[in-house]
Amino acid sequence: RFITLEGGEGAGKSTQARRLEAALAEAGHRVLRTREPGGAPGAEAIRGVLLNQGPWDGVAECMLHFAARRDHVVSTIRPALAAGTWVVCDRFADSTMAYQVFGQGVPRAVFDALAAVALEGLRPDLTLVLDIGPEQGLARAAARGETNRYEALDPAFHERVRAGFRAIAAAEPERCAVLDATAAPEGVAAAILGLVRTRLGA
Ligand code: C5P
Repeated sequence: RFITLEGGEGAGKSTQARRLEAALAEAGHRVLRTREPGGAPGAEAIRGVLLNQGPWDGVAECMLHFAARRDHVVSTIRPALAAGTWVVCDRFADSTMAYQVFGQGVPRAVFDALAAVALEGLRPDLTLVLDIGPEQGLARAAARGETNRYEALDPAFHERVRAGFRAIAAAEPERCAVLDATAAPEGVAAAILGLVRTRLGA
């Protein structure tokens, strides 16, 4: 089973990914927790470039994300799924749709073409969208000392990203669920486990 966590800055994705990994392991599943951009040596190298260098135009940036994702899928995700391991991934292709297509205005056709080549049909079984207003999310990210060039972008950009995630979830309700990420971490974790049980029978 392939589960992804999505959302804007400071939504608590990493915390929830760790909690979900622990809960699934507790239930007796083999679990791999991974993240994007990154999740494999080559992809992590591209992450460093993406976060610390640039800028590029949006299409080039989209291609870098999909180059990293391709490596991650081939080297890490597909082998784990083939071995029967549950994969919990902190960000996946929906982040590229939200940040580069909705946020930066890259044409959807560019996303679709790159996704077709890079993913060859791989799709998460469940995508958990952690929803939080950009003001609150950015304040959380800043409080833990996180700054990279994305977080410095203007609030309107982060509003578009948030709207993007919500639009993705609305378009694919059987794959996606939106959770209120302003709730206490324990409550969000419980809601996630409930969804994993009802939708995936974990
Ligand atoms: O989730 P994490 O904070 O590790 O993501 C790293 C940064 O990369 C974030 O600031 C996020 O906004 C950015 N990002 C992006 N486009 C993506 C994925 C992540 O701009 N497709």
